[in-house]
Amino acid sequence: MTMNQSHEIETSSGHRGLDLAEPLIFELDGPGRCGVDLPEPGPINNRLGGLERQAPIGLPGLSEPQVVRHFVRLSRNNFAIDAGLYPLGSCTMKHNPRLNEKLARLPGFADLHPMQPIETVQGALELIDTLAAWLLALTGMSAVAMSPAAGAHGELCGLMCIRAALEAKGDAREVVLVPSSAHGTNPATAAICGYRIEQLPADDRGRVDLSALREKLGPHVAAIMLTNPSTCGLFENEIIEIAQAVHDAGAYFYCDGANFNALVGKVRPGDLGIDCMHLNLHKTFSTPHGGGGPGSGPVVLAATLAPFAPLPMVQRSGDGLMLVEQKSAARGTAASFGRLKGFHGQMGMFVRALAFILSHGADGLRQVSEDAVLNANYVVARLQDLLSLSFPGPCMHEALFDDRFLKDTGVSTLDFAKAMIDEGFHPMTMYFPLVVSGAILIEPTESESKDSLDQFIASMRHLAERAQRGDADYFTSAPHLAPFRRLNETQAARHPVLRWQGELQAAAE
Ligand SMILES: *Cc1c(COP(=O)(O)O)cnc(C)c1O
Repeated sequence: MTMNQSHEIETSSGHRGLDLAEPLIFELDGPGRCGVDLPEPGPINNRLGGLERQAPIGLPGLSEPQVVRHFVRLSRNNFAIDAGLYPLGSCTMKHNPRLNEKLARLPGFADLHPMQPIETVQGALELIDTLAAWLLALTGMSAVAMSPAAGAHGELCGLMCIRAALEAKGDAREVVLVPSSAHGTNPATAAICGYRIEQLPADDRGRVDLSALREKLGPHVAAIMLTNPSTCGLFENEIIEIAQAVHDAGAYFYCDGANFNALVGKVRPGDLGIDCMHLNLHKTFSTPHGGGGPGSGPVVLAATLAPFAPLPMVQRSGDGLMLVEQKSAARGTAASFGRLKGFHGQMGMFVRALAFILSHGADGLRQVSEDAVLNANYVVARLQDLLSLSFPGPCMHEALFDDRFLKDTGVSTLDFAKAMIDEGFHPMTMYFPLVVSGAILIEPTESESKDSLDQFIASMRHLAERAQRGDADYFTSAPHLAPFRRLNETQAARHPVLRWQGELQAAAE
């Protein structure tokens, strides 16, 4: 039997081999089942004055083995960097070293509470301060706001600093310039900060068109948000001229630093004229991405923006360290735009990021970026005869192809990505950036070996040849071997169902 027929097998259980079809935990609910076995409580002296719950809260009843199996089965439907190559471009899905995990689990870090008295957390503040010093050294900037909880949150922090700086000068400006290749969070951030977005076109080399930028700049422009290397995996080689033009117009230069993995240890953003930039610790500095969970996006700031940084911040005070929580002229925080987040940042991620930095050192980090760039260029070199490379190489840390190689095959980038699932690879980033048709963006990172890249490349070549041979049906019906086949790509966003409503929900469907 050939692979493309295997999806016709239907089993009575709905399972496919040992990929078990797992229902929702509420559907596993059974009367009288419970995961704990505690004695009935004695009489309670009820002081709730009639406000006590009148009915059970509707938690599902399951035994402990059922709960364990439920979550283990769900975890097996997940794909993770620990399971295989995860070539998602722009996302820097690199290995999360186990040393980081070991250190983050030390009780002195893991059991901290953000409300602890300051004299009991001096070690934690020291760690935050040491990490901050490294981030400043690697970027050549003046100050760093550690509290943002993700890259997008860092963008918000950066633009709020820029807005505060402009307001302090009494200089109201309304426009933020964003290149057409930008990540969607850039225009979204600018819009949330109340700015109007104007798009900057790319030139035919995929870079920002400097003359178009010069035309757009003026007294109404607050900032440019630029990613370097860009989301096309290309270094903006006119970045010094860009910074100069932006500053001459009285605007600020926000750099989206999500792609810092291509530069770390090689180039300091401060030397390029950048005024602020977020660093995704969950990208460049190897902390887990965590299913949208605990990211961390510290923002480095030039001296002109440093006074506006959010609170709280760690500062030296005599022999010790303190958290400055309030605006204070004596502490240099009078101009701060205020609090961005409840507490001071993602402590567990700080521990992991510093472990990564210290275990590599400055030279090792340079090697990280060189190896990441080398790996991406290896992918380009081995695929460019079969796939269509969007811009001539060499690239930085990611390889951008488009869908010209699929022209007239009846196979789309989406179909191709679905077939990669059958090959055992998480699909690459697709249809982003928007500046090329049917984008295929591959970021191997430095943590893939030549062997694992060769396997990936072999699968990509096999699929490209198969598509070009005219086997469109195989692709349009892929994936054949996944627990779920084609999902509705937009339903979850258009019709979010955020809580289990039992029969109500079943009736609505
Ligand atoms: C990942 C990424 C972001 C957003 O970062 P999050 O941590 O996911 O919020 C912004 N810009 C680019 C280019 C990115 O790759």
